Amino acid sequence: MKIWCATGNPGKLREFRLAGELLDVDVEPLPDLKSIEAPEETGATFEENACLKAAYYSRFAPGLLFADDSGLEVDALGGEPGVRSARYAGEHATDEENNRLVVSRLGENSDRTSRFVCVIALAKGGEVVKTFRGAVEGQLLREAAGPAGFGYDPLFYYPPFGCSFGEVDGARKFGVSHRGNAVRAMLEWLSLNPR
Ligand code: IMP
Repeated sequence: MKIWCATGNPGKLREFRLAGELLDVDVEPLPDLKSIEAPEETGATFEENACLKAAYYSRFAPGLLFADDSGLEVDALGGEPGVRSARYAGEHATDEENNRLVVSRLGENSDRTSRFVCVIALAKGGEVVKTFRGAVEGQLLREAAGPAGFGYDPLFYYPPFGCSFGEVDGARKFGVSHRGNAVRAMLEWLSLNPR
């Protein structure tokens, strides 16, 4: 089976393809994604943004297409940065700027409970077929640790590993991550509900 994916992020695509190989699903990037004007991510939730992207881009795909939306939730910050994770410190903020802001907002708060969330929406011909949610629980560090990953990974301490996501390789992270869990749920559902 072949499905299309609306991501321009090579790291995400590599992870999605790897997961697809395990379940015999061929994950292809949507050709010419860059030449398609991106929709505005106006949703208030990960579900809304994943659905609006998947519905929009699926009109350009010859079959099933999926899109994801993801981010970091910090409980003591009322779930922030949430859907604003990529632009927490401003529209074109760097990972370092976003990381600095979340650490300073949390300050010395002893409740460091955080999670990464990923929602994948699967769509066809402009209509959403189904959504899949994955999450992984951790603790927000006071200082970044490790050079690996991207975004908030160096600040995200994952207790079962005894280190941050910035200190493990991508395959190890994908085995437990929010994105890994969401994509595995989608591929398993597709294997039981072939389209
Ligand atoms: P998007 O799903 O590409 O819109 O990602 C939103 C933002 O959430 C990213 O720019 C990161 O700041 C953050 N994020 C999402 N997933 C991860 C992850 O696996 N590690 C670290 N940061 C993440």
